Amino acid sequence: MTLRPYKHVLPIYQPIVLFSKNYLPMARINLKRATVLLVTGRAEPVDLIGKTWQMRSPSLTLEIPEYIRLRAGNSDRIWKTPPVNRREVLRRDGHRCQYCGSKQQLTLDHVVPRSQDGTHTWDNVVIACAPCNSRKGARTPDAASMQLMKRPKAPMHPVVAFAEQFWKEQKKPSLI
Ligand SMILES: [Zn+2]
Repeated sequence: MTLRPYKHVLPIYQPIVLFSKNYLPMARINLKRATVLLVTGRAEPVDLIGKTWQMRSPSLTLEIPEYIRLRAGNSDRIWKTPPVNRREVLRRDGHRCQYCGSKQQLTLDHVVPRSQDGTHTWDNVVIACAPCNSRKGARTPDAASMQLMKRPKAPMHPVVAFAEQFWKEQKKPSLI
């Protein structure tokens, strides 16, 4: 099956928005994946204003709407906040020291030190390079005159993060 969007304009981004059964926008997916979901009946079109993409084979033409929705509810499966460990904190902090931005000799730092009853929780653990960590010592950033680049918090559910971004994009005047 060849892929031929209307007007021969090739999409520069993943063109189909997939919604959950409860109309929560979940992800952008490509035409091929959207087609599979529609053809197997796992998703259906959402009636909103949007483009239609066309897929043609010698014997078949499929119209793929820009917005589709999953029929089953199992996509809203329970998501747990990841554990506070080196791998997950590195991922959240983009593999950068949260004080100076360095990408070398990275360690875990408790913002409020454990010796001052700092907790091992998402809002109190950040990535720090070894020099920053030893400069800070068993002090708070304030006491050490150091500043965090951003306030640490637990990572967001990926679908919630996507939904927030999606609705933000819809509000941009250029897209109306
Ligand atoms: Zn540093």
